[in-house]
Amino acid sequence: MGDIMQKESLWKQYQNHKRYPALTKGITCDVLIIGGGITGISCAFELSNSNQKIVLIDQNQIGQGITSGTTGKLTYLQNGIYQKLLHTFGEEIALTYYQSQKEAVETVEKYVNQYHIDCNFQKDISYLFATTRKEEDTLQIEKAFFKRNQIPYIYEKTNPFCRSRGAIKVPDTAVFHPLKYLYHLAELAYKRGVQIYEKTKAVGFKDYENNVIVDTERGYIRAKKVVFACHYPFFLLPGLFPLRAHIERSYVCAGKVKDAGNGNAINPSNPTYSFRYHKDRNKFLIYCGASHKLGDHLDYQENYRLLTEQAKEFMPNVDYIWQNQDIMTNDYLPLIGRLQKNNDHLYIATGYNTWGMTNGVIAGKVIRDLILGEENPYAFLFAPYRGIHFDQIKNFTLDAYQSGKSYAISKLKNYYSFYLDEVKIRKKKGKKLGIYIDEDGKYHIVSTICPHMKCSLTFNMFQKTWDCPCHGSRFDMDGKCIEGPSLKDITIIEKI
Ligand SMILES: Cc1cc2nc3c(=O)[nH]c(=O)nc-3n(C[C@H](O)[C@H](O)[C@H](O)COP(=O)(O)OP(=O)(O)OC[C@H]3O[C@@H](n4cnc5c(N)ncnc54)[C@H](O)[C@@H]3O)c2cc1C
Repeated sequence: MGDIMQKESLWKQYQNHKRYPALTKGITCDVLIIGGGITGISCAFELSNSNQKIVLIDQNQIGQGITSGTTGKLTYLQNGIYQKLLHTFGEEIALTYYQSQKEAVETVEKYVNQYHIDCNFQKDISYLFATTRKEEDTLQIEKAFFKRNQIPYIYEKTNPFCRSRGAIKVPDTAVFHPLKYLYHLAELAYKRGVQIYEKTKAVGFKDYENNVIVDTERGYIRAKKVVFACHYPFFLLPGLFPLRAHIERSYVCAGKVKDAGNGNAINPSNPTYSFRYHKDRNKFLIYCGASHKLGDHLDYQENYRLLTEQAKEFMPNVDYIWQNQDIMTNDYLPLIGRLQKNNDHLYIATGYNTWGMTNGVIAGKVIRDLILGEENPYAFLFAPYRGIHFDQIKNFTLDAYQSGKSYAISKLKNYYSFYLDEVKIRKKKGKKLGIYIDEDGKYHIVSTICPHMKCSLTFNMFQKTWDCPCHGSRFDMDGKCIEGPSLKDITIIEKI
């Protein structure tokens, strides 16, 4: 690789995995899982020991969505989550959430040992550190919560990665290579009879005679139950998703280091600073930062520059750099379970607030139990149709404002000052066109309106993609949709 910085995730370098065929004809099944990230594969694996006929489809290749951009920590010490849950819901919910995350870490460890999964799994210590006075207050609240509930922790002045004003340290967490884990689990599920189809995109669904008919680009799938494990759902109803969450984008980099100790760390509020080591043939430090709400900081080139600048403090060279985005719910809890209370055909698992390694794993267990009609201790906690709390209304208002702001900005500013000469915006016959001129002088012309909810797209100079600042859809320079919720491309086949 030399000194060339790779503009994609460290995990994606792992190519030694099986590819699955695309669907070729209409089929029927008991359970259809849409999406092959950590959520979909965990659901498929958990259900694979039942007598249900399970089908999983992915629009792309499994494991190449948001899961491929994670930092791959398996921890219950998340960025200030207990303080938020205590404030919003109280002790019982905060404690149940803790138990769910602990169980997820233990589940991965159990599977790694039981099925000999070679995924660089390593038991680790997690730190939650404070960089400001306010963050110190958060630490005090989390510390008190741990003490009341006899959860082992140590309070220290420092953490292994950066300067801080104190840190909570907990044992029994872990780090792993998320894609090696996911591909191994997928293959186990496949061998137990789960049918997996790649390059098969769901584009709609409807109830039909006590079944759900899912329309894909390659034929219909008739299922008794459907699990939407596709990260940001591609439908507006049911669920009215844009009102319940916003998207946050972060930037991650990895650089080789001589010594990689133990420990992973994060601070409790924005801007986030997150660290872990990864030990494979080489040793890496992974650093994540420069996070922002999707509609803010649209100069992506500048965001990458900022991260690289910060990373210099911690690693000699940045070898890999990438961006990733996750769904932040306005009551801080994931959405896992029946999409609607009285409908046992449709299930969803998403909204992990950047903790999808643990929540995706636990989603597999919750969805399995709900589908098979068994009790699950976390089902009530994550129920997507749960009631509304005061904090949620406050955050909902902020999210709605943010969404409106992103939409308005995207409409008003049709030429961004940070675009270089390679990007032009033109109007033709009332249509707004975006033109990217590549290194060979070739024009790539697309529509700049996102098909999902009509926001104007922004060109991401670093990755050469058109990105939606409202709901996170992304399109390559020729207009092909590479990340949902949009179901359509923005390709334009015409000369200007
Ligand atoms: C910077 C960053 C760092 C993170 N670090 C951590 C961490 O250290 N620990 C942790 O616990 N969590 C972490 N997370 C969160 C975690 O990465 C995500 O929550 C998790 O990967 C989401 O998994 P998923 O399976 O829901 O989504 P995805 O991995 O995106 O899977 C969804 C799949 O659905 C497919 N799909 C979408 N639409 C369709 C369709 N219409 N038809 C068919 N298929 C479709 C996609 O192709 C994709 O493969 C991090 C997040 C970010 C942004």
